[in-house]
Amino acid sequence: MKENQIKAVHQQDLKKLLKSLHVYDSVTSNTATCYFCNATMSLDTIAAVFPFNDAVCFCCDQSMCCSAMIDLEQEDETLG
Ligand SMILES: [Zn+2]
Repeated sequence: MKENQIKAVHQQDLKKLLKSLHVYDSVTSNTATCYFCNATMSLDTIAAVFPFNDAVCFCCDQSMCCSAMIDLEQEDETLG
């Protein structure tokens, strides 16, 4: 299984992304939370990072939250 390798590469990208958004510290210090369920985020549980109302929001890896995020994006498109 090469899954671990893939995850390692993915996490490198994630770290870069979080640093570029200036939220890496809040994730590693466990102060970042999932926008939908308020679960504390870590590098392992972040499924997505997205901007909302001028803030950087996180989505955890629960399927419930991922689908909520997709709904949110679709609403956004409707509003233009
Ligand atoms: Zn969540």
